[in-house]
Amino acid sequence: MCGLKVNQNVLTKQLRVKRILLDQLKTLYEEAYRYFDPRREPPPVEVRFYPYVGINHTIRARDGRIYVRVGDICSEMPLACHRGLAYILVGKLLRKRIPPGAREVYNAYIRSEPVREAAAESKRTRGTKVVTTSKGTVYDLDEIFGRLNVAYFGGVIERPTLTWSQRRTYRILGHHDAVHDHITISRSLDSMDVPRFVVEYVLFHEMLHIAHPTRHVNGRRYNHTAAFRRDEKRFSHYAQAEKWIEQNVRRLKRQARRR
Ligand SMILES: [Zn+2]
Repeated sequence: MCGLKVNQNVLTKQLRVKRILLDQLKTLYEEAYRYFDPRREPPPVEVRFYPYVGINHTIRARDGRIYVRVGDICSEMPLACHRGLAYILVGKLLRKRIPPGAREVYNAYIRSEPVREAAAESKRTRGTKVVTTSKGTVYDLDEIFGRLNVAYFGGVIERPTLTWSQRRTYRILGHHDAVHDHITISRSLDSMDVPRFVVEYVLFHEMLHIAHPTRHVNGRRYNHTAAFRRDEKRFSHYAQAEKWIEQNVRRLKRQARRR
Protein backbone atom coordinates (compact mmCIF):
# COMPACT_ATOMS: atom_id res chain seq x y z
CA MET A 1 0.00 0.00 0.00
CA CYS A 2 1.22 3.40 -0.86
CA GLY A 3 0.97 5.99 1.88
CA LEU A 4 -0.30 9.31 0.60
CA LYS A 5 0.63 12.26 2.74
CA VAL A 6 -2.42 14.38 3.31
CA ASN A 7 -0.71 17.69 3.98
CA GLN A 8 0.90 18.07 0.56
CA ASN A 9 -1.91 20.00 -1.03
CA VAL A 10 -1.44 21.06 -4.60
CA LEU A 11 -3.83 23.97 -4.49
CA THR A 12 -3.44 26.18 -7.52
CA LYS A 13 -5.18 29.54 -7.68
CA GLN A 14 -8.03 28.08 -9.70
CA LEU A 15 -8.60 25.35 -7.13
CA ARG A 16 -8.35 27.78 -4.23
CA VAL A 17 -11.09 29.90 -5.80
CA LYS A 18 -13.24 26.81 -6.06
CA ARG A 19 -12.51 25.85 -2.46
CA ILE A 20 -13.70 29.28 -1.35
CA LEU A 21 -16.89 28.92 -3.40
CA LEU A 22 -17.62 25.50 -1.90
CA ASP A 23 -17.11 26.92 1.60
CA GLN A 24 -19.53 29.73 0.82
CA LEU A 25 -22.09 27.22 -0.44
CA LYS A 26 -21.71 25.20 2.73
CA THR A 27 -22.59 28.29 4.77
CA LEU A 28 -25.70 28.82 2.64
CA TYR A 29 -26.91 25.28 3.32
CA GLU A 30 -26.34 25.73 7.05
CA GLU A 31 -28.26 28.98 6.93
CA ALA A 32 -31.16 27.27 5.12
CA TYR A 33 -31.14 24.49 7.70
CA ARG A 34 -31.37 27.02 10.54
CA TYR A 35 -34.27 28.75 8.75
CA PHE A 36 -36.32 25.55 8.67
CA ASP A 37 -35.20 24.19 12.03
CA PRO A 38 -34.09 27.12 14.21
CA ARG A 39 -33.89 25.10 17.42
CA ARG A 40 -31.17 22.73 16.23
CA GLU A 41 -27.57 23.19 15.19
CA PRO A 42 -27.29 22.26 11.50
CA PRO A 43 -25.48 18.96 10.87
CA PRO A 44 -22.14 19.05 9.00
CA VAL A 45 -22.74 19.78 5.33
CA GLU A 46 -20.68 18.67 2.35
CA VAL A 47 -21.23 20.41 -0.97
CA ARG A 48 -19.81 19.21 -4.30
CA PHE A 49 -20.38 19.95 -7.93
CA TYR A 50 -21.32 16.87 -9.87
CA PRO A 51 -21.48 16.16 -13.62
CA TYR A 52 -25.20 15.46 -13.76
CA VAL A 53 -26.86 15.50 -17.15
CA GLY A 54 -29.15 18.51 -17.62
CA ILE A 55 -30.36 20.47 -14.60
CA ASN A 56 -30.20 18.15 -11.66
CA HIS A 57 -29.15 18.32 -8.01
CA THR A 58 -29.39 15.94 -5.09
CA ILE A 59 -29.40 16.22 -1.32
CA ARG A 60 -29.35 13.40 1.18
CA ALA A 61 -28.79 12.86 4.88
CA ARG A 62 -26.60 10.01 6.01
CA ASP A 63 -24.91 9.23 9.32
CA GLY A 64 -25.74 12.65 10.72
CA ARG A 65 -24.28 14.52 7.75
CA ILE A 66 -25.85 16.23 4.78
CA TYR A 67 -24.46 15.61 1.29
CA VAL A 68 -25.30 18.03 -1.47
CA ARG A 69 -24.44 17.52 -5.12
CA VAL A 70 -25.04 20.56 -7.27
CA GLY A 71 -25.20 19.95 -11.02
CA ASP A 72 -22.23 21.23 -13.01
CA ILE A 73 -24.57 23.41 -14.99
CA CYS A 74 -24.77 25.69 -11.94
CA SER A 75 -21.02 25.99 -11.39
CA GLU A 76 -21.12 29.63 -12.54
CA MET A 77 -24.42 30.47 -10.87
CA PRO A 78 -24.47 33.68 -8.78
CA LEU A 79 -24.45 33.17 -5.00
CA ALA A 80 -27.94 34.66 -4.60
CA CYS A 81 -29.34 31.87 -6.81
CA HIS A 82 -27.29 29.28 -4.92
CA ARG A 83 -28.96 30.59 -1.78
CA GLY A 84 -32.37 30.00 -3.39
CA LEU A 85 -31.32 26.47 -4.39
CA ALA A 86 -30.08 25.77 -0.84
CA TYR A 87 -33.52 26.68 0.60
CA ILE A 88 -35.24 24.52 -2.03
CA LEU A 89 -33.08 21.44 -1.42
CA VAL A 90 -32.99 21.68 2.38
CA GLY A 91 -36.75 22.40 2.42
CA LYS A 92 -37.33 19.24 0.39
CA LEU A 93 -35.06 17.19 2.62
CA LEU A 94 -36.89 18.35 5.76
CA ARG A 95 -40.31 18.25 4.04
CA LYS A 96 -41.00 21.89 4.78
CA ARG A 97 -42.74 24.59 2.79
CA ILE A 98 -40.20 26.32 0.60
CA PRO A 99 -40.29 30.14 0.76
CA PRO A 100 -41.53 31.48 -2.60
CA GLY A 101 -38.63 33.93 -2.86
CA ALA A 102 -36.20 30.99 -3.00
CA ARG A 103 -37.87 29.45 -6.03
CA GLU A 104 -38.12 32.80 -7.77
CA VAL A 105 -34.45 33.68 -7.56
CA TYR A 106 -33.33 30.15 -8.52
CA ASN A 107 -35.83 29.78 -11.38
CA ALA A 108 -34.80 33.13 -12.84
CA TYR A 109 -31.35 31.67 -13.41
CA ILE A 110 -32.41 28.18 -14.52
CA ARG A 111 -34.94 29.50 -17.02
CA SER A 112 -32.51 31.91 -18.62
CA GLU A 113 -31.69 31.17 -22.24
CA PRO A 114 -27.96 30.31 -21.86
CA VAL A 115 -28.62 27.85 -19.02
CA ARG A 116 -31.45 26.12 -20.91
CA GLU A 117 -29.21 25.80 -23.95
CA ALA A 118 -26.34 24.41 -21.88
CA ALA A 119 -28.71 21.87 -20.30
CA ALA A 120 -29.96 20.71 -23.69
CA GLU A 121 -26.38 20.46 -24.93
CA SER A 122 -25.29 18.38 -21.93
CA LYS A 123 -28.15 15.96 -22.64
CA ARG A 124 -27.13 15.67 -26.28
CA THR A 125 -23.45 15.02 -25.63
CA ARG A 126 -23.56 13.05 -22.40
CA GLY A 127 -26.48 10.91 -23.46
CA THR A 128 -24.49 9.35 -26.29
CA LYS A 129 -21.22 8.71 -24.51
CA VAL A 130 -19.61 5.29 -24.91
CA VAL A 131 -19.68 3.12 -21.82
CA THR A 132 -16.25 3.28 -20.26
CA THR A 133 -14.43 1.18 -17.73
CA SER A 134 -12.57 2.71 -14.83
CA LYS A 135 -12.33 -0.64 -13.07
CA GLY A 136 -9.38 -2.59 -14.37
CA THR A 137 -8.39 -6.16 -13.60
CA VAL A 138 -6.02 -5.02 -10.85
CA TYR A 139 -6.57 -1.30 -10.28
CA ASP A 140 -9.71 0.79 -9.98
CA LEU A 141 -9.11 4.27 -11.38
CA ASP A 142 -12.19 5.71 -9.68
CA GLU A 143 -10.94 4.63 -6.29
CA ILE A 144 -7.40 5.89 -6.92
CA PHE A 145 -8.73 9.19 -8.22
CA GLY A 146 -10.84 9.67 -5.09
CA ARG A 147 -7.88 9.10 -2.80
CA LEU A 148 -5.50 11.35 -4.76
CA ASN A 149 -8.14 14.06 -4.90
CA VAL A 150 -8.50 14.11 -1.11
CA ALA A 151 -4.80 13.68 -0.39
CA TYR A 152 -3.44 16.32 -2.77
CA PHE A 153 -6.20 18.53 -4.10
CA GLY A 154 -8.42 19.15 -1.09
CA GLY A 155 -11.11 17.07 -2.82
CA VAL A 156 -11.99 19.90 -5.21
CA ILE A 157 -11.13 18.35 -8.58
CA GLU A 158 -14.30 17.36 -10.37
CA ARG A 159 -14.19 13.75 -11.40
CA PRO A 160 -13.53 13.49 -15.12
CA THR A 161 -14.44 10.37 -17.06
CA LEU A 162 -11.71 7.86 -16.16
CA THR A 163 -10.89 4.98 -18.46
CA TRP A 164 -8.28 2.39 -19.16
CA SER A 165 -7.13 2.58 -22.77
CA GLN A 166 -8.44 -0.02 -25.19
CA ARG A 167 -4.96 -1.03 -26.29
CA ARG A 168 -1.85 -1.55 -24.19
CA THR A 169 0.05 1.57 -25.14
CA TYR A 170 3.61 1.95 -23.86
CA ARG A 171 4.82 5.23 -25.22
CA ILE A 172 1.92 7.17 -23.73
CA LEU A 173 1.01 6.08 -20.22
CA GLY A 174 -1.69 8.64 -19.60
CA HIS A 175 -3.63 11.30 -21.42
CA HIS A 176 -5.92 14.13 -20.34
CA ASP A 177 -8.46 15.37 -22.85
CA ALA A 178 -9.55 18.79 -21.57
CA VAL A 179 -12.30 19.24 -24.15
CA HIS A 180 -14.15 16.07 -23.20
CA ASP A 181 -12.96 16.10 -19.58
CA HIS A 182 -11.55 12.64 -19.95
CA ILE A 183 -8.47 10.91 -18.49
CA THR A 184 -7.20 7.75 -20.14
CA ILE A 185 -4.57 5.55 -18.51
CA SER A 186 -2.65 2.94 -20.49
CA ARG A 187 -3.96 -0.56 -19.90
CA SER A 188 -0.34 -1.72 -19.75
CA LEU A 189 -0.30 -0.38 -16.16
CA ASP A 190 -3.29 -2.46 -15.06
CA SER A 191 -1.07 -5.35 -14.05
CA MET A 192 0.19 -7.08 -10.91
CA ASP A 193 3.72 -6.35 -12.15
CA VAL A 194 3.12 -2.62 -11.80
CA PRO A 195 3.33 -1.12 -8.29
CA ARG A 196 0.32 0.85 -7.14
CA PHE A 197 2.36 4.03 -6.68
CA VAL A 198 3.19 4.00 -10.41
CA VAL A 199 -0.48 3.95 -11.40
CA GLU A 200 -1.13 6.66 -8.82
CA TYR A 201 1.71 8.75 -10.14
CA VAL A 202 0.55 8.55 -13.76
CA LEU A 203 -3.01 9.47 -12.76
CA PHE A 204 -1.66 12.22 -10.48
CA HIS A 205 0.21 13.67 -13.47
CA GLU A 206 -3.01 13.76 -15.50
CA MET A 207 -4.89 15.36 -12.60
CA LEU A 208 -2.23 18.06 -12.51
CA HIS A 209 -3.25 18.90 -16.08
CA ILE A 210 -6.70 19.75 -14.66
CA ALA A 211 -5.16 21.80 -11.84
CA HIS A 212 -2.80 23.55 -14.29
CA PRO A 213 -4.79 24.16 -17.47
CA THR A 214 -2.80 24.70 -20.71
CA ARG A 215 -1.37 28.21 -20.94
CA HIS A 216 -1.24 30.00 -24.26
CA VAL A 217 1.59 32.49 -24.61
CA ASN A 218 2.26 34.16 -27.97
CA GLY A 219 0.48 31.40 -29.81
CA ARG A 220 2.43 28.65 -28.07
CA ARG A 221 0.90 26.10 -25.75
CA TYR A 222 2.51 25.33 -22.42
CA ASN A 223 1.36 22.16 -20.68
CA HIS A 224 4.21 21.30 -18.35
CA THR A 225 5.00 24.67 -16.85
CA ALA A 226 7.55 25.17 -14.08
CA ALA A 227 4.68 25.28 -11.57
CA PHE A 228 3.36 21.98 -12.97
CA ARG A 229 6.75 20.34 -12.59
CA ARG A 230 7.14 21.70 -9.09
CA ASP A 231 3.78 20.25 -8.00
CA GLU A 232 4.57 16.97 -9.70
CA LYS A 233 7.46 16.52 -7.29
CA ARG A 234 5.04 16.66 -4.37
CA PHE A 235 3.89 13.16 -5.15
CA SER A 236 4.90 11.03 -2.15
CA HIS A 237 6.75 8.45 -4.29
CA TYR A 238 7.94 10.81 -6.99
CA ALA A 239 11.51 9.55 -7.28
CA GLN A 240 10.56 5.86 -7.07
CA ALA A 241 7.80 6.24 -9.64
CA GLU A 242 10.04 8.09 -12.11
CA LYS A 243 12.74 5.48 -11.63
CA TRP A 244 10.32 2.58 -12.05
CA ILE A 245 8.93 4.00 -15.27
CA GLU A 246 12.39 4.63 -16.67
CA GLN A 247 13.54 1.11 -15.85
CA ASN A 248 10.40 -0.82 -16.72
CA VAL A 249 8.61 0.78 -19.61
CA ARG A 250 11.22 -0.51 -22.03
CA ARG A 251 10.84 -3.98 -20.53
CA LEU A 252 7.05 -3.86 -20.90
CA LYS A 253 7.48 -2.82 -24.51
CA ARG A 254 9.79 -5.73 -25.25
CA GLN A 255 7.34 -8.17 -23.64
CA ALA A 256 4.54 -6.76 -25.75
CA ARG A 257 6.51 -7.26 -28.95
CA ARG A 258 7.21 -10.88 -28.06
CA ARG A 259 3.52 -11.61 -27.41
ZN1 LIG B 1 1.55 15.76 -19.17
